[in-house]
Amino acid sequence: MPTLSAEDRAKAIAILEELRAKIAEIAGEDRERLFQVRRYIVKRLEFDERGTPTQRRKLKDQKWKSQRGLCALCQEKLPERGAELDRFRAIEGYTIENTQLLCRHCHEKVAEDRGFA
Ligand SMILES: [Zn+2]
Repeated sequence: MPTLSAEDRAKAIAILEELRAKIAEIAGEDRERLFQVRRYIVKRLEFDERGTPTQRRKLKDQKWKSQRGLCALCQEKLPERGAELDRFRAIEGYTIENTQLLCRHCHEKVAEDRGFA
C-alpha cells in the first residue's frame, strides 16, 4: 500500500483542520452536539471506504451461500456469527470479486501475512 506523498498529506491535513474548525463553529460549547456532528462525519467517511453495514451484510450473505458456509481458506464450517469479510486489496473495497468470507482465525492470519497486524 503506497503511502501519501508529503504534498498530499499536507493537503489532507489542511482539509482536516478546515473540517475541525467548521465542526467547532457548528457545535460551539455544546459538547454533545460536537460529538454527534463528528460521529456523523466519521461514519459517512467510513461508508465511503467500506460501504454501509447493510451493503456489507448483503455481501456476507452472498459469500456465505457461494462458499456453502465454509471458510474460504481452511474449509471449516463458518460460525453462525462472527465470520469475517476479507478484502484481497483494501483499495478495491467490499465487492464480490474482491472479498472472501473467512473464520476469525484465518482472517487474523492473512492480515498478519499482509503486514496489517
Ligand atoms: Zn478458516
